[in-house]
Amino acid sequence: MSDTADVIVIGAGPAGLATATLLAGKGVHVALVDPYRLAVAHPRATHVDDETVRIMQTLGAAHLEPEFLCHTDGGYQIYDAHHQLVRYMPWRPEPTDQGWYGDYQFFQPDFENLLRGRLHASPYFASLLGWRAVSVTQTSSGVDVAVRNERTGAERTLTARFVVGCDGARSTLRGLVSPEVEDLHGTHRSLILDIAPFTTSPAVPENDAFTKAIPPNPVTCLPIAHDMVRFEFLLNPRDATEDFEVPSRWYELLAPYYAPGDYRIARADVYRWESLLATRWRDGNVFLAGDAAHQMPPHLGQGMGSGLRDAINLSWKLAAVLDGADETLLDTYQTEREPHVRVYVHAAVGAANGIEFMSENPGELGEPPEALEAQMPVPQLGSGVHGDTEWPVGALSIQPRLLGGDRLDDVVGYAFAVVGNPTLLAGVDVATAATWQRVGATVVGETPLPLRRWLNEHRAHAVIIRPDRYVFGLAASAAELDALTARLADAVGTVDHQPAGVG
Ligand SMILES: Cc1cc2nc3c(=O)[nH]c(=O)nc-3n(C[C@H](O)[C@H](O)[C@H](O)COP(=O)(O)OP(=O)(O)OC[C@H]3O[C@@H](n4cnc5c(N)ncnc54)[C@H](O)[C@@H]3O)c2cc1C
Repeated sequence: MSDTADVIVIGAGPAGLATATLLAGKGVHVALVDPYRLAVAHPRATHVDDETVRIMQTLGAAHLEPEFLCHTDGGYQIYDAHHQLVRYMPWRPEPTDQGWYGDYQFFQPDFENLLRGRLHASPYFASLLGWRAVSVTQTSSGVDVAVRNERTGAERTLTARFVVGCDGARSTLRGLVSPEVEDLHGTHRSLILDIAPFTTSPAVPENDAFTKAIPPNPVTCLPIAHDMVRFEFLLNPRDATEDFEVPSRWYELLAPYYAPGDYRIARADVYRWESLLATRWRDGNVFLAGDAAHQMPPHLGQGMGSGLRDAINLSWKLAAVLDGADETLLDTYQTEREPHVRVYVHAAVGAANGIEFMSENPGELGEPPEALEAQMPVPQLGSGVHGDTEWPVGALSIQPRLLGGDRLDDVVGYAFAVVGNPTLLAGVDVATAATWQRVGATVVGETPLPLRRWLNEHRAHAVIIRPDRYVFGLAASAAELDALTARLADAVGTVDHQPAGVG
């Protein structure tokens, strides 16, 4: 195995696996380092939203979706300290404009194993699973990463132009790239109990998830994939962690929901949740992604999704720079992603703090804290490749099915897309068409009804969509599309690609 790669990804959690998969798919030589030879066997993340499933689609994992748990009736209930229902959010019963349902429960080990297996079949992939990164040194030409085999103790030094640190919440890379972190003040602990019940329980609704802010330990309960049920008991500030690490406590906490002996405990772990953002996501040729760059409580189910958004944002930029685009493109990774994930961290902090507040202040009847009233946010990227951020520029594009029945992203691939009225697309300058070819854009000259409606809403007839599915810009005429494409050439540089395909 060669000791050089274009990119070394440190950490094979979801963020690292997604980054490695997207890079290898672009023909980038990528090495993936993780001390564990096998993926973790139990889920940490369980919830994915429509955007996250769309990213899974780009990762080639959409065929797992039929196995996900997806409720179209029922919803999420929040009860106060007096068992009064104070908020009810129904699940979204129809697929969203992303082409998928709004909320699923998936099985993280299946997803990670799929990506691990696929990577091992790629000629662009070097597997260092079973190896720990022990030091990272920037050199004049790139980065050296010293790795040590966990079983044999053998040591090697790998060299690459770029390193992406996806080494999780306890990231050591973060200490190198961003010694400073911003604390968003949502630190909590909770006991996670995943159980496989042998029987149904009237106290656990089949289609609903609930949070009950009952003191002393608010509980969240949700059905998860593989016929399991997750319980999360929030520890209060006075609780000792070790008191929640003993089996007798687990059975006691679960007693209102299931009789002992009516379930198998699949896992029991106390987590400490931090809410923070790394101040810098890039130092020279080393980047942070996933929990290494941002952490949040699990209450919105957005931690992993945010790491996948990092991966899909950063990977096409790294591939473009390796192909000759200007390195300043990489500075847009943090400017775009950080404001976006900040919205989710704030919302998750609000939810976690709100539940704790309701439980610690049982005298306050009725109204839940404001944070629990809010809808799930749908943020835009911060400023970056797309320039300004006037809605819907910098916002997530829709994913319609094309006239032949395919989902748009399946036709486009992990590439830029120029989609719109065929007459308008045919009327652009030769230079514009040449730029599309140079940046590897897929040109889709059709406007199925949902797309036509969306374009009409924004007074446009064509849209350029970035490889991460965010809107680069809109055009109402061929001349506007020429101008937009000129901006694209400036932003992404003049790399010489083959076109990704024409739909
Ligand atoms: C109980 C729980 C429930 C959650 N629920 C949800 C949810 O419903 N939805 C959601 O989106 N998110 C959820 N999350 C958050 C989600 O699990 C994390 O955000 C996500 O796993 C982070 O992915 P990551 O790849 O950044 O880091 P990790 O998954 O932590 O992976 C980091 C990897 O880096 C490796 N590593 C560490 N040090 C080194 C080193 N020196 N060298 C090489 N490799 C190294 C580790 O072995 C590990 O494999 C939940 C988390 C928990 C714990």
